[in-house]
Amino acid sequence: MLQKPKGTYDIYGDRALIQLYFRKLVEALMDKYNAKYIETPIFEASELFHRGVGETTDIVSKETYDFKDRGDRNLTLRPEGTAGVVRSFIENKLYAENLPLKLWYMGPMFRYERPQAGRYREFYQFGVEAFGSDDPMMDADMIGVVVNLFNILGLKGVSVNINTLGDRESRESYRKALLEYFKPYLGDLCEDCQRRYEKNPLRILDCKIDSGKEIMKNAPKMIDYLNEESKRHFDKVQEYLKAMGIDFKVNSNIVRGLDYYTHTVFEVQADIEGFGAQNTLAAGGRYDHLVEFVGGPSVPGVGFAVGLERLFLALEAEGIDIRKCVYPDVYIFNADEKQKPYVLALANHLRLAGFNVEIDYKTRNFKSNFKRADKVRAKYIIIIGEEEVQNKFLTIKNNVTKDEYKVELDNLIEFLDEKLGDDDED
Ligand code: ATP
Ligand code: MG
Repeated sequence: MLQKPKGTYDIYGDRALIQLYFRKLVEALMDKYNAKYIETPIFEASELFHRGVGETTDIVSKETYDFKDRGDRNLTLRPEGTAGVVRSFIENKLYAENLPLKLWYMGPMFRYERPQAGRYREFYQFGVEAFGSDDPMMDADMIGVVVNLFNILGLKGVSVNINTLGDRESRESYRKALLEYFKPYLGDLCEDCQRRYEKNPLRILDCKIDSGKEIMKNAPKMIDYLNEESKRHFDKVQEYLKAMGIDFKVNSNIVRGLDYYTHTVFEVQADIEGFGAQNTLAAGGRYDHLVEFVGGPSVPGVGFAVGLERLFLALEAEGIDIRKCVYPDVYIFNADEKQKPYVLALANHLRLAGFNVEIDYKTRNFKSNFKRADKVRAKYIIIIGEEEVQNKFLTIKNNVTKDEYKVELDNLIEFLDEKLGDDDED
């Protein structure tokens, strides 16, 4: 039998519901930030990622899915969302609109990695890219999006870690300090880090193999190499986060895998016991030179991406079921062939009024209708018998408390609004 490719998975059943519900929630949250939705192609010219993500990153050097199409073009399945959004921002001259502009996306990304819990070859990210301000306020606001999202979901065991990479000048003096520091220890570092030493020593701090070693702990810290402007920027970010009541830690080991970050970088981690090694749920930072680097004007930006699989694993670990809101508000009885037109009309009437309505297409006896209503976890059951149709009323049962009501047809929407309005509060 043919099977799905290694490192991929099908989205169906419970997981499909979670994904859809998450999407709705993100849409609502993004509206509150006046962020606009964007979709870019799943594949792009390979060169975009080489430039936009960086040749020396793990992502580009060993994780991309590269292929040639029949026209001999070098293409790559997107390993992340930022490069494509930046390309689109430039190509469609979105920078000519009113800046700052916030763009959000949600979709599959592809990386050739060793599959394990929380690490797949096709995985989903939700992300935001905010363009057009170099003010630390924008950094704090974007960190706030992630924190708000996790709060809305009810996720508790997470911590926000921030760091700064400074501006170009600060980064250059830090780079020199790192080169000097690691020189005598080069032989103790892993093969990848020896390569990183030549190309981008900052990335050594991001190494998963060497991270526990003593030499890493004593390495020079970025914070001691910041110039005045970079220091001010980082201080302001922290001041603004505090003003928003966001708890955070300054963690000098966060350097991020990508080449284009400047100033603020951040990661949100799950601190749930037994959660496993893949505990970074979201990551992002400021990228003041990326747009220019990809070929556009000089426009600063801040962005982040949330990994959906890891987020859903974290929700599961905390026993949070985000699907509870997508169960039917009402299940309508279908117990008599003659009443089918009435059932269908009533269902449509309620759906257009904004309710989630489930019906069955084949008639069932009363007992079997109740069973079905339970199975789909309907909140209310509308019972339609002969008497109800004749006298234009409905018998409505709360499927949890089992309370029963007789409601006039004309008052139905008002009744449900009132009842379900209460339920939605929790
Ligand atoms: P890691 O250090 O775990 O490899 P990363 O630095 O490569 O992560 P980013 O490129 O910053 O990750 O991507 C942002 C988020 O996307 C991660 O924090 C994670 O939640 C998710 N993510 C990245 N790679 C994968 C993957 N292969 N499978 C599932 N989720 C992933
Ligand atoms: Mg990675």
